[in-house]
Amino acid sequence: MAASGGSAEARAAAQAATEAVPEYGFFIGGRWEAAAETMPVKHKYTGETLARVGVASREDVRRAVDAAERAFREQRPSPRERAAWLLRTAELIEAHREELGRLIAREAGKPLKEALTEAGRAVNTFTVAAEEAKRIAGELVPIEADPGSEGRFAFAMRVPIGVVAAISPFNFPLNLVAHKVAPALAAGDTVVLKPASATPLTAIRLVELLSEAGVPAGRINLVTGPGSPVGDYLVADPRPALVTFTGSAAVGEQIKARSGLKRVTLELGNNSPNIVHGDADLDLAADRLARQAFLSAGQKCISVQRIYVQRPVLEPFLERLERVTSQLVVGDPEDPATDVGPMISEREAERVEGWIREAVEAGARVLAGGRRRGALLEPTILLDVTPEMKVVCMEAFAPIVTVTPYDTLDEALRYANDTPYGLQAGIFTSSLEVAMRAARELEFGGVIVNDSSAYRADLMPYGGVKGSGIGREGPRYALQEMTELRTVVFNLAK
Ligand code: NAP
Repeated sequence: MAASGGSAEARAAAQAATEAVPEYGFFIGGRWEAAAETMPVKHKYTGETLARVGVASREDVRRAVDAAERAFREQRPSPRERAAWLLRTAELIEAHREELGRLIAREAGKPLKEALTEAGRAVNTFTVAAEEAKRIAGELVPIEADPGSEGRFAFAMRVPIGVVAAISPFNFPLNLVAHKVAPALAAGDTVVLKPASATPLTAIRLVELLSEAGVPAGRINLVTGPGSPVGDYLVADPRPALVTFTGSAAVGEQIKARSGLKRVTLELGNNSPNIVHGDADLDLAADRLARQAFLSAGQKCISVQRIYVQRPVLEPFLERLERVTSQLVVGDPEDPATDVGPMISEREAERVEGWIREAVEAGARVLAGGRRRGALLEPTILLDVTPEMKVVCMEAFAPIVTVTPYDTLDEALRYANDTPYGLQAGIFTSSLEVAMRAARELEFGGVIVNDSSAYRADLMPYGGVKGSGIGREGPRYALQEMTELRTVVFNLAK
């Protein structure tokens, strides 16, 4: 906080503390620029200030878009060159995996084990994007089939869309940035990136590595600062052809409303249901569901939040779920043994604590957890919940899970679909028929059989229906969003 009104000593101490941490500005047109105003980035477990990053002005954002637009107009890198930078970036991420993992652990509070996994996934995302850069094609159009088009020849080719405005969330500070930047660069687009204010340091490091990998000046630009107004400036600028956003539904809706004729891809929230049918492997289900409800402190868009269990297996399932949960180590994200670290802020943990309290007052029972210490919320299992409780009907984004029994599959599918969201759902069953019914009837972008809703491979199409968004990520699919089809018609019968 600014030391206005405090003593000179206090101001000096604050100043000294400020100078002790690294300070980052913006990356525009291939150069780092100092920022006139900065804001702190905190360690999410210790609270220490890790660094200060710039707060971009409207003018800074305008210059970043200028640089991206100029690079798009002036450079025409070949697919081979684009693939080479992306592959080199993957190698650099691999070489700096420990460093990136620790940075994620510190600024996001994500346990080191998972942070290292995230860094490994980013290596893969860049590698897959590099491969896809070489496969961008188009198709022949059988135009002569149209009356009056005899003697013509046509094809539709994929061309880069232009400047991409990429706005990313806090929960995967590396890999969700990779899912925007890597396919955009593969497509031949240029990028202005605005990472989450809670976790900009990993994105800043990634931009340094992209530059080191040979990405030419202006193709990747970075501005930081609060979503409102910095993200707003970016969305309001008429020049980006695409806004690719991952974050909350509320912000996603605002972006869509403000982005005019730009293409928009929105990867939003979820409230993931998971069904444990009576014929499921209960050990597998309990292990996968407990871990994927609580790892990353439940702050994954596809975290397990609602579990529906067929009544005859409810008790044995709960016994297993509770056992796996009790084995999870909660605490310091930098400790290699930790499974569940802090939430992104104490305020967020207090919010969910309030939801738990409200549910309990309305009759819910806490089977495990429920207590909070600062930003650390214990992995919490809630029983006897009802559909209108916030812990059931809203996205918790926290280490909590609700368990509800059901009798018939029809009932389970109805419960699962009873949400405005539609990102991913999971079902555990040994019946092909049950699995296929779930695949057909669950209204989600992804249905995972015999693993939790939180399963994701970086190359698969990934995205939601209903309130979970528009468009798909996964490099091959993101490339469809990040390119345009240009139709070329030759008149051969002149
Ligand atoms: P958020 O608050 O919506 O923020 C996401 C990004 O948008 C941040 O960079 C934020 O900047 C920026 N932003 C905020 N207000 C803006 C505005 N008015 N205009 C433009 N940009 C703005 O989300 P979060 O808390 O970081 O992430 C959690 C949410 O993301 C959850 O709902 C989760 O489900 C969702 N998520 C979805 C996916 C998916 O693939 N579907 C993946 C991960 C997370 P500041 O940080 O400066 O506010």
